Amino acid sequence: MRTADHRSPNLDEIDRLFERLAASPFRSRFRLGPGERDYLAKKGRSTVSDHAADFVARRLAPSKPRNDGKQTPFRGHPVFIAQHATATCCRGCLAKWHGLQPGRPLEDFEQKRIVAAIMRWLESQQRPPPAEREN
Ligand SMILES: [Zn+2]
Repeated sequence: MRTADHRSPNLDEIDRLFERLAASPFRSRFRLGPGERDYLAKKGRSTVSDHAADFVARRLAPSKPRNDGKQTPFRGHPVFIAQHATATCCRGCLAKWHGLQPGRPLEDFEQKRIVAAIMRWLESQQRPPPAEREN
């Protein structure tokens, strides 16, 4: 069993987060479109994870992010969709859903937790849901 290390994502914590997200009609309606799924498949997990880390570092981690509340587009990159789906789109959502206080820079381990949630959601989206396949 892994010893308590606050710097690595706690799996139980992520499981609980995803249960809460699934119960939210707003959060659970986000899906990757075919173009975004394609992008993810072409670029691969490790590149997209680098993009996620970069977006989090530049758009969320500063104590006062630019355009906070509107810094995450609703299309254009699979990570953006994942951020809305996982409530990691702005500091307000990070405070409400992830207990991360606004008005201070995010620590490295907090940024890693956010990226882990984003990547987990993206993995859950790699296969289209049954309803979409029938179209
Ligand atoms: Zn938000």
